[in-house]
Amino acid sequence: MDQDYVIEANNLACDYSEDSDVTKGIVLAQVKIPRVGVTVIVGPSGSGKSTLLSLLSGIRKPSEQSEGAKLNFYDFEENIELNLLESKSARKAKLGFVFQEPHLIKEISARSNAGIASHLLNRKNNIVDADRLAHDFGVNQVIEQRADTLSGGQAQRIAIVRALTVNPDILVCDEPTSSLDEETGTSLLDSISQWAHENGKAVLWVTHNLQQAA
Ligand code: ADP
Ligand code: MG
Repeated sequence: MDQDYVIEANNLACDYSEDSDVTKGIVLAQVKIPRVGVTVIVGPSGSGKSTLLSLLSGIRKPSEQSEGAKLNFYDFEENIELNLLESKSARKAKLGFVFQEPHLIKEISARSNAGIASHLLNRKNNIVDADRLAHDFGVNQVIEQRADTLSGGQAQRIAIVRALTVNPDILVCDEPTSSLDEETGTSLLDSISQWAHENGKAVLWVTHNLQQAA
């Protein structure tokens, strides 16, 4: 087991041509995601970033024709290697997700939204306190508010808190700043990067913004 990487992938392919007249999809020869810090995936719209993320996180199974496909997740705490190509193992991988939109439930408080992931996964152990995370991400002042009263940046920070309460080893972020202005987006990336380095975690960060990627 290579201690430096949390995900190692080889020969993964996704082919969408069955659903379309044009051949499209992606082929991934080899990727290793460092165990700590932010790994940025950058490319224009439609280049396959979301497809790549869903393949790497085991959400989308590679096309049947991918020979020698490998997708391993290294859980260092448990000292085990999980094969994400098997759905049983994929469920055990410690992954958190954040998307372009925060997808909060409008009628309930920010705190109730933040607690939903651990509640739905029925997790009792290894939960990170939502209030502590809200403090770290600068949204503790608004945690009592109804979700529909939050600004875009605050809502996205609550979505991040929701993802982190289950203590993932990797936070998978699919363009979480694309609905935010440049400054709010940069500040969000800074907070996530700080979280990754302080807690020894990995972030997969997708963006079409070259400046942000740099
Ligand atoms: P990005 O996230 O970089 O914008 P995507 O991974 O969403 O790119 O899409 C890559 C390509 O695959 C695009 O041409 C898109 O239209 C196509 N695509 C994405 N999802 C599907 C799908 N479920 N069925 C068919 N084609 C798809
Ligand atoms: Mg996308």
